[in-house]
Amino acid sequence: MAQAEIGLIGLGVMGSNLALNIAEKGNKIAVFNRTVDATRKFYAEAGELQSQIVPCETIEEFVAAIRPPRPIIIMIKAGEPVDQQMELLKPYLENNDIMIDAGNANFRDTMRRFDNLKDSGLTFIGMGVSGGEEGARHGPSIMVGGKEESWKRVEKVLTSIAAKYNEDPCVAWLGENGAGHFVKTIHNGIEYADMQMIAEIYGILRDGLKMSATEIGEVFGTWNKGRLNSYLIEITEKVLKAADPITGKPIVDLILDKAGQKGTGKWSVIEAQNMGIPATAIEAAVAARSISSVKSEREAAEKVLGLPAVGEFKVADKAAFLKDLESALLAAKIGAYAQGFAVMAQASREFNWNLPMPTIARIWRAGCIIRSVFLDEITTAFTKDPNVANLIVTPAFADMVKETDGALRRVVSAAALGGLPVPALASALGYFDSYRRGRGTANVIQAQRDFFGAHGFDRVDGADAHHGPWGSGLNA
Ligand code: NDP
Repeated sequence: MAQAEIGLIGLGVMGSNLALNIAEKGNKIAVFNRTVDATRKFYAEAGELQSQIVPCETIEEFVAAIRPPRPIIIMIKAGEPVDQQMELLKPYLENNDIMIDAGNANFRDTMRRFDNLKDSGLTFIGMGVSGGEEGARHGPSIMVGGKEESWKRVEKVLTSIAAKYNEDPCVAWLGENGAGHFVKTIHNGIEYADMQMIAEIYGILRDGLKMSATEIGEVFGTWNKGRLNSYLIEITEKVLKAADPITGKPIVDLILDKAGQKGTGKWSVIEAQNMGIPATAIEAAVAARSISSVKSEREAAEKVLGLPAVGEFKVADKAAFLKDLESALLAAKIGAYAQGFAVMAQASREFNWNLPMPTIARIWRAGCIIRSVFLDEITTAFTKDPNVANLIVTPAFADMVKETDGALRRVVSAAALGGLPVPALASALGYFDSYRRGRGTANVIQAQRDFFGAHGFDRVDGADAHHGPWGSGLNA
């Protein structure tokens, strides 16, 4: 029997769907799972794809089934389990075999694993996979980090399974070691911001305009036909229009308002902060999930403080306000993406990855959770000017910001006056307003720092005097 082209360990939600996708595209695949029953069940349910699958019950059998140099995808619970699995696998592998961690790893773990294998003859790929269960089964967006030779060994299989945007596969080698997992992390950070901004707009429609879930679903459905067209807007319409089978009420009204998180949003923010790159919309989104999770505290606070006493949320022209909400969402989204790309640009410099910005935008156009027509526009902007300092100063996006930021300003003002929380929308507005202002207010910060800590400052007139006349001996 011909050997398998690739192996996969971990037949959970993502692994089993990815394995079926690989098999369906004509690639023979060997599979293994820690719990043998899962392997048996997976194979039994694989139907006509069984001929492309080699189910293995021991690691020895699994490794022997794959053509060397062996690419082995590890798609298991992130963190410690990946280290354990790699240790178990290592003794059976040979020179140039490639272990591929396809889970949501912290890129710092990927860098460490990469380094640990440096002199072992084995290689490592850290591979970000986006698109959830559906994406894994029918075409995810795949972000690959590792040695270029390792990528060459898996390029054909990964290209065959990736999502396609107008025939263009949404997979690419993005750089050495942690590049793929870093980009996946920032993808998720942007996803947090995108989702939070949608939720804030929903909040204005629900609590400000008092619209029902189904009516709000209609609004998102209309927007999905325009410039906001994206997977997240599409599923938001579906979510808002879905009825609960038990009560018949909109299901969204019955879902507890406590959001979960697994870490990629937080990692995005930590890395952005480490590098000194503002990612305020992503920060606001991560913080909003944290605030959402302290439901009982929020309920207690509402009893103590009450909701802001602002009276009725008043909008003079509802149709015009709905248009403003659409434009505001687009403007804020531009801010979040600009921040995410700026974080990646800095990481590329710090870690010598040479991250290809147009390629990243290109492979996010389909397959992943943030897929949208908007990413096609980002691809075009970065293709024209790959080294631009910030997406918002590219000609196309500068025009879009100028066209939509007035609406964002009106929406954030209306929400603030109406007592409705819009932290991510407001932070995007604050970002635009700070970033576009040549003369800011940090001169006061510098003066304060010099006053209490003699930290010194530079002068606008270039004079060679770097301390203020504070009169306490600090201005020596
Ligand atoms: P599941 O919970 O469905 O499956 C977990 C898998 O990990 C099982 O195969 C399990 O094996 C295996 N496993 C757990 N601990 C160990 C261990 N110590 N040694 C060996 N195997 C172990 O997870 P998902 O498929 O949802 O997620 C897998 C990875 O993909 C995670 O990193 C996740 O963050 C990432 N991911 C998930 C997405 C999603 O939408 N779900 C999207 C993108 C990435 P066993 O059957 O023996 O328990």
